Amino acid sequence: MRAMILEKPRQPLRSRNAAKPKLGAGQLLVRVATCAVCRTDLHIVDGELPDPKLPLIPGHQIVGRIEQIGEGVQGFSAGDRVGIPWLGWTDGECAYCRSKRENLCDRAKFTGYTIDGGYAEFTVATARFCFHLPNEYNDVEVAPLLCAGMLGYRSYRKTGDAHRLGVYGFGNAAYLIAQVAIYHGRKVFAFTRPGDKAGQEAARSLGAIWAGGSDEMPPQKLDAAIIFAPVGALVPAALRVLAKGGIVVCGGIHMSDIPSFPYVDLWGERAICSVANLTRQDGEEFLQIAPRVPVKIQTETFPLEEANTALEKFRSGQLKGTAVLVVNTDL
Ligand SMILES: [Zn+2]
Ligand SMILES: [Zn+2]
Repeated sequence: MRAMILEKPRQPLRSRNAAKPKLGAGQLLVRVATCAVCRTDLHIVDGELPDPKLPLIPGHQIVGRIEQIGEGVQGFSAGDRVGIPWLGWTDGECAYCRSKRENLCDRAKFTGYTIDGGYAEFTVATARFCFHLPNEYNDVEVAPLLCAGMLGYRSYRKTGDAHRLGVYGFGNAAYLIAQVAIYHGRKVFAFTRPGDKAGQEAARSLGAIWAGGSDEMPPQKLDAAIIFAPVGALVPAALRVLAKGGIVVCGGIHMSDIPSFPYVDLWGERAICSVANLTRQDGEEFLQIAPRVPVKIQTETFPLEEANTALEKFRSGQLKGTAVLVVNTDL
């Protein structure tokens, strides 16, 4: 099968003819239709995340159709369209798994990082972590919901009932989750790179009531802020725009170091937390709410073989939407 393979971090992916993966018990063999590109893929390819499986097929926002079903699988039939997310497997028995925090499982395996992902014609996935997908979206549109959307949603949920919500880094996840927040009647304040007038305009046209640079103060104090940009300096910046009792949620898997800041900026029961991975429940909830909003998705498609181009355009900020690799679809 055709596959794009990471042999070593900090090198371009290689286009290879790889062996079709073998189906195991509890797994699905899926013919990949599309696979969206996530910032985490960049962190893995660029060597910013430790110990990936090597060689590795990246990609963890996979949409495809079931070709074959492993022993013991329930709830799926051959031909079904499924989504395969970042959380690929958990042991189900550690203290985290048993307390509904499988996203923190010590032995978790991650699609396109510690197990092979979707930059290929076929993939295998553990069925209990796969999702049925809403029919309202085609194979290209639905792919970015599987990570940018689901992780964004988990970050958003961490903000509780915050009415005034700041979002730093108005990329894919922010774009998707701001629509949900606005649907829920929240007021969204968008922070972009200083001077990024186009980004600010895009946020306003989506319904943000205020948009400005990350060095600017919004007109009101905020109840919560989500940081999607991998920039540690945004943490103290976000704390400074929070009202008392507010929370800063760091939504990314990787961030540069956080500079020190005076305790008074945290005082007043302000909090900082990170969001790690997702639970299946986050995914199910987000896939239910997305078509009701309805969440709109901007994409830019690339053939599988141009995965390196997609990654490079992502790295240099030239994408006009979420990059989606089109592997095999009738669209
Ligand atoms: Zn566990
Ligand atoms: Zn991701």
